[in-house]
Amino acid sequence: MAELTLALDIGGTKIAAGLVDPDGRLVHAAKKPTAEGDAERVWAVAEELITEAMAGGPVRGVGIASAGPIDLPTGTVSPINLTEWQSFPIVDRVASAVPGVPVRLGGDGLCMTLGERWRGAGRGADFLLGMVVSTGVGGGLVLDGAPYDGRTGNAGHVGHVVVDPDGEPCSCGGRGCVETIAGGPRMAQWARDHGWEAPAGADAKELADAANAGDAVALNAFRRGATAVAAMIASVAAVCDLDLVVIGGGVAKSGALLFDPLREALASYAGLNFLRGLRVAPAELGGEAGLVGAAALLDG
Ligand SMILES: [Zn+2]
Repeated sequence: MAELTLALDIGGTKIAAGLVDPDGRLVHAAKKPTAEGDAERVWAVAEELITEAMAGGPVRGVGIASAGPIDLPTGTVSPINLTEWQSFPIVDRVASAVPGVPVRLGGDGLCMTLGERWRGAGRGADFLLGMVVSTGVGGGLVLDGAPYDGRTGNAGHVGHVVVDPDGEPCSCGGRGCVETIAGGPRMAQWARDHGWEAPAGADAKELADAANAGDAVALNAFRRGATAVAAMIASVAAVCDLDLVVIGGGVAKSGALLFDPLREALASYAGLNFLRGLRVAPAELGGEAGLVGAAALLDG
């Protein structure tokens, strides 16, 4: 019987495919830029990656991580940053390409969380929020030891927790979401608006360099972003009674710049007794968490 699971990770700019062994290790991984054009051209990229990965033999099933929104009841995806795919029937397409095995779909935030829980910083946590702070802010939930999809598969969209009722407009159509303060480009923009003399094309990475060099505005931008993330975490933890939050993504890579002010702010926001033991840890798997977690969907 086949032991490997085929995993796909569908994002706005790239599609990745991998083979995951029963211990959660990636034994094959490849990625390609998402083709521009129409839905079929994007699918052709995914199909090529599937064919390549399947050259090694049969698999026991397929797990798909996709940028959201997704629609679990219909098996379709409409990623915000992949406009070619609107209600694209990814589950049916993959099932036709890899017939005779189960195919499971999950949000990319949920899959990152499952990956970290299987092999990374989330091991052993039964009430876990996994999240990414990068260009956007996303996440996924494990509750009572099981992945929590919600009604349509979109539970865990923590980037759109409102932390400033009078805040800036957000890409989701709302305003004041944590993503409008802590998303990498938004932090860089805030710093520019407050006098940071940024190099051309500068983003969160350059902002982190400036903060590490002692630039006061850059440090404030990180403190502001971290405080917004802490407010969101305290809110979600109070609702879901969490024990651990694992944070990955580009902005989280700046380490203490994000985590120090975040832990400090969290201590002041998370006042309830049952939140005293809430831990926040950096993610361990990096970019491969989505593929590893997609494979974990088969067992969830
Ligand atoms: Zn939003």
